Amino acid sequence: MDRELMQQVVDLARRYHERVPTEPVFPRVTVEELRQALGGPLPEKGAAASDVVAHLARGAEKGLVGSTGPRYFGFVIGGSLPVTTAADWLAVTWDQNACLFATSPAASVVEEVAAGWLRELFGLPAKTSVGFVTGGGTANFSAMVIARHAVLERAGWDVEKNGLQGAPPIHVVVSDESHATMLAALRYAGLGANNVKRVPCDGQGRVIAANVPAVLATCEGPTIVCCQAGNIATGSFDPFEEICEAAHERAAWVHVDGAFGLWAAVSDRLRPLVRGLERADSWAVDAHKWLNVPYDSGIVLCAHPAAHRAALGISAEYLVQTEEDRERDNFDWTPEFSRRARGFAVYAAIQHLGRKGIAELVDRCCARARQMGDLLRGQSGVAVLNDVVLNQVLVRFHDSDEATRAVIDRVQREGVCWLGGTTWHGMAAMRISVSNWSTSERDIEMSAESILKAASAESAQSARRGR
Ligand SMILES: *Cc1c(COP(=O)(O)O)cnc(C)c1O
Repeated sequence: MDRELMQQVVDLARRYHERVPTEPVFPRVTVEELRQALGGPLPEKGAAASDVVAHLARGAEKGLVGSTGPRYFGFVIGGSLPVTTAADWLAVTWDQNACLFATSPAASVVEEVAAGWLRELFGLPAKTSVGFVTGGGTANFSAMVIARHAVLERAGWDVEKNGLQGAPPIHVVVSDESHATMLAALRYAGLGANNVKRVPCDGQGRVIAANVPAVLATCEGPTIVCCQAGNIATGSFDPFEEICEAAHERAAWVHVDGAFGLWAAVSDRLRPLVRGLERADSWAVDAHKWLNVPYDSGIVLCAHPAAHRAALGISAEYLVQTEEDRERDNFDWTPEFSRRARGFAVYAAIQHLGRKGIAELVDRCCARARQMGDLLRGQSGVAVLNDVVLNQVLVRFHDSDEATRAVIDRVQREGVCWLGGTTWHGMAAMRISVSNWSTSERDIEMSAESILKAASAESAQSARRGR
């Protein structure tokens, strides 16, 4: 890349970063305007790189969401630390294929080192194997493929060779509050999204431990149990100790979907919430959420490295694989073959923050969520529905689905912050997730103000409508 093109990109990036915190969080643009800006016939002749970059930036910037900014509270999106953006720039520039040691010794060793750090951060067994995948959903999928291998192997069935046709049936037990990608993972792994036994949850979305043994008693043979660290609505945690105890008595596999909640294990204050986590068999977590690494960064971890590699690894004559365990071939631990070296940014985040910094990031987001809860709770017509144990706040307005949706809509349109809605136990609710390193107390104050203003505008309007 020539110097001028590089400079152009650096300038565009700097201007964008400066703009994000001050502009409406969600772009005020219609899809037609974006199509107008970015569309056009298939180019017959090419164009200069600098013109293409300028055109792309001009068009795309109209439709970018300020999710790297401090007042984006939708979907547990997280932001990106400056150091992780920098490391990802280098990863793209170096354009390494992180598949084999032979395709990138650097990507192999960086992922090996980061894997060791992650094991320690989460307090998982020393032998835990780690794969760097695209996201939490892919991590759940990878874990289901590994789990499927392991429980069928115990039943004397080789699923890699023979597939699922004719295999002993696998029982799947899930939390009634499972994330949509957990059920998709079961679909992709050939286990079926509906062919599951659901364990009921309590009012905070936690699996009720006392119900687990009875459900497991109906599972004869190979069994997989899926639970979660961090409910996407409330932030609550399942009782891992009790679940693992009951499941392992019956040789069942326990998977924990901890896309954002697993990071609680790094904080001394929050660690009691993940008690027993280390007894599970596999875990899914995202780096692109709470670790604030740029997108396309999830992690699958497994307490049984042999099963992990047997289920996901590939071998072929031309691959020049390294001798058993002397060097790490990254592709042994993911369902991907060629891929970008996404481990660089994870490595950079951990090195930059250290264990203490990660714990502080997590604790700080939780403190901001509590601050938001405190500013909203008890205000006229406002109810906070969940115990704010983590980074999630669920809010309902004027005890009405219609009013709640209307308040969410008003807040989104005002643009001070952005958050979405959900349905919690049959009631419409606003869902606020704090997962960005740069969210300050002031950002929370400004956002709470915008939310309360929307709530009172809505009650004024519904009073007028009522009359
Ligand atoms: C976000 C999330 C997922 C999916 O992760 P992606 O990175 O979006 O694929 C799975 N489970 C939970 C609990 C999540 O919050």
